[in-house]
Amino acid sequence: MESKIRGNALNKFPNGKQFCFASESQGTRLASHWKTRVGARAFSGDEGSLLRDRPMDTVRVAVVGAGVIGLATAMCISQQVPRCSVTVISDKFTPDTTSDVAAGILIPHAYQDIPVQTQKQWFRETFDHLSAIARSPEAVDAGVHLVSGWQIFQSVPTREVPVWADVVLGFRKMTEAELKRFPQHVFGQAFTTLKCETSAYLSWLENRIKASGSLLLTRRIEDLWELQPAFDVVVNCSGLGSRQLAGDPAISPVRGQVLQVRAPWVKHFIRDGSGLTYIYPGVSHVTLGGTRQEGDWSLSPDAEISRGILSRCCALEPSLHRACDIKEKVGLRPGRPSVRLQKELLVRGGQRLPVVHNYGHGSGGVSVHWGSALEATRLVSECVQDLRTPAPASKL
Ligand SMILES: Cc1cc2nc3c(=O)[nH]c(=O)nc-3n(C[C@H](O)[C@H](O)[C@H](O)COP(=O)(O)OP(=O)(O)OC[C@H]3O[C@@H](n4cnc5c(N)ncnc54)[C@H](O)[C@@H]3O)c2cc1C
Repeated sequence: MESKIRGNALNKFPNGKQFCFASESQGTRLASHWKTRVGARAFSGDEGSLLRDRPMDTVRVAVVGAGVIGLATAMCISQQVPRCSVTVISDKFTPDTTSDVAAGILIPHAYQDIPVQTQKQWFRETFDHLSAIARSPEAVDAGVHLVSGWQIFQSVPTREVPVWADVVLGFRKMTEAELKRFPQHVFGQAFTTLKCETSAYLSWLENRIKASGSLLLTRRIEDLWELQPAFDVVVNCSGLGSRQLAGDPAISPVRGQVLQVRAPWVKHFIRDGSGLTYIYPGVSHVTLGGTRQEGDWSLSPDAEISRGILSRCCALEPSLHRACDIKEKVGLRPGRPSVRLQKELLVRGGQRLPVVHNYGHGSGGVSVHWGSALEATRLVSECVQDLRTPAPASKL
């Protein structure tokens, strides 16, 4: 196990000071003592001096996890919390995270214990954030674009007009003429939403985070307490890793297998209301899905499942028989009845470490990532405020 700094050869801290380090591709290893040591003294090497080289009132924030939730949260914190330094620490970065496998369509997934209006707000904030990117010159680099299409149902759903209908664009019920394309389906919704090609988006986020002066470190964390006292606040965005890091048995894998194919003539998305069959056209490929296998940890593609996905998608869009360059992808969704977005104060031996948890986004993390990151950032601001507020003097 080792830690490496990812990024440009030249970067800046929020205090404006510049520092240099060799790029990861040169294989430079920094602070190899991280392998075995914990705490502030573990930062006594080059990396340690970088992290210490800061004004006294700078709060050091570590974000654990570099999926869409961790990177978005790191970016929000660096934009919105004054006088703090942000370090993203993760054992995997793009293209090796679950977020890289996501189809990346913005259609919300319902979370059991979170008020519907909160979920809608997260979705709206994410939609607005990605919409702004989609209509900027950054759209191609960030892999974000509008996509129109249909969500179709074999029986009429309880809610014909979902709660998020006024967030997406041009929501309406499908016409009879449109439904004729899908003889097995009796009802449908037509709308325009956003599609996020997640590998491109994660790279784009990484670049923005580095440009803001934050650090990205490759390292596996065994226990959040390892980060004390080198960091003042820890944000846990480790997805499925929270089973260990937060000791949370409520989080478990929901395996998803998809195909990425070349079929540039497919322009509309088609999603079966069950969420199990979908066709999402993107910039470089069309994503065909999918599966939702609870408790399954296997990351190996299953050929039988791939054949089933292709056959179900071809039934909805027969032109896909001509799709080529088929790639199989598997990801483990961080399944939990609800997202955990809350503060926790870890205390050991009289030392304290404020932690903000932001994990458990299951099947819908891309759809709510920015709203969820904004809320986590508000919680981090509260922790920072507490740290900057001097403890009342004893009257004794
Ligand atoms: C097939 C599939 C299709 C999907 N399609 C969509 C979709 O269309 N729309 C949508 O909204 N959502 C979709 N999702 C869901 C979405 O992918 C997830 O909700 C989202 O990626 C979760 O992001 P995350 O950052 O929490 O987790 P991850 O991407 O898993 O990131 C977790 C990070 O934590 C790091 N980590 C974990 N443990 C440790 C540790 N001990 N030490 C250091 N680092 C650690 C990991 O390396 C990783 O970087 C899909 C998922 C799958 C699998």
